[in-house]
Amino acid sequence: MSKDTTTEIDIIRVSSSKIEQIDFDNLTFGSVFTDHMLVCDYRNGAWEKPVIKPYEPFTLDPSAKVFHYGQAIFEGMKAYKTEDDSVWLFRPEENYERLNKSAVRMCMPEVTKEIFIDGLKELLKIEKDWIKKGKGNTLYIRPFMIAIGSGVIAQPSTQYRFCVILSPAKAYYSGEVKVLIADYYSRAANGGIGAAKAAGNYSGQFYPTQLAHNAGFQQIIWTDDATHTKLEECGTMNVFFRINDTLYTAPTSDRILDGVTRKSLIDLAKREGITVDVRPVLVDEIVQAAKDGSLKEIFGAGTAAVVNPIVGFQFKDEYFELPKLEKSMALDLKEKLTNIQYKLAEDTFGWTVEV
Ligand SMILES: *Cc1c(COP(=O)(O)O)cnc(C)c1O
Repeated sequence: MSKDTTTEIDIIRVSSSKIEQIDFDNLTFGSVFTDHMLVCDYRNGAWEKPVIKPYEPFTLDPSAKVFHYGQAIFEGMKAYKTEDDSVWLFRPEENYERLNKSAVRMCMPEVTKEIFIDGLKELLKIEKDWIKKGKGNTLYIRPFMIAIGSGVIAQPSTQYRFCVILSPAKAYYSGEVKVLIADYYSRAANGGIGAAKAAGNYSGQFYPTQLAHNAGFQQIIWTDDATHTKLEECGTMNVFFRINDTLYTAPTSDRILDGVTRKSLIDLAKREGITVDVRPVLVDEIVQAAKDGSLKEIFGAGTAAVVNPIVGFQFKDEYFELPKLEKSMALDLKEKLTNIQYKLAEDTFGWTVEV
């Protein structure tokens, strides 16, 4: 290992990279990590100096608050490489701001831009070779923060760790997705933590999603917890419905995460002249639209898959198949958005940021 120090970040490099051992053509999403990670601890009321160091396990006290009370938040982003070897991020400030919103909600300290944005860029420069060119290849970025202070007293920790790990990924394809509309379980509630990217939102989804799997569905469309009449999110993605040629998606709320993909698709669709109606979407109207044939598409939207078309949905005892279209609005918007991300189309919105 060699150690060199910039004024802002300590850098400890691995003595030899493991990149040669990686089969980049056969990657399972989120299972391989690069040589280095960024780590920054919060103690005595302040963030310490961030360090980029070899990817390795943490040693934590068994009483660390994250293990007992789940003070844990994360983000999901991607880096893209163009044909001329430049590396780009997509709307990274959105992720930075959202992490801090999640931090406030979970009673955790906000990170600085120097740590999140500058630290991430520095890490990406070191891991440049892990980002492969060509559409579909990306480096998935997972920033996260956990409570590392010890003691099982149920109160917020005084010590935290912010960390960024990187995972090379191929285009995410989930196969045919059939969904179940939730009529009992909920992902989030008014006044709850659904709008935060909190670890607990995910663990709470695993069991109902497993039940849905056992019944032959890949995902759940979550409905509002109070009445189960409004369609809110699809698995861990925002969700869009196309009725005739209009797109509908719910407004963000305490129960709905403010997805970067969601808001980018809304802007992009509007630019394309598509009418986008952001308002509560009722289960009843989607069932009705499926029956009268005006429901054309349903798709999830999120960083990992970008757009995830749904082939059919079940509500209570009725299953509805969506039509097979020659021209999918979902796939067209996906193509346009990924072209911006890979710098293959002009970025008229100013969303892309060079590393
Ligand atoms: C991360 C996430 C999304 C998608 O957000 P993006 O910023 O588009 O990746 C949507 N819903 C939930 C619940 C999420 O956790």
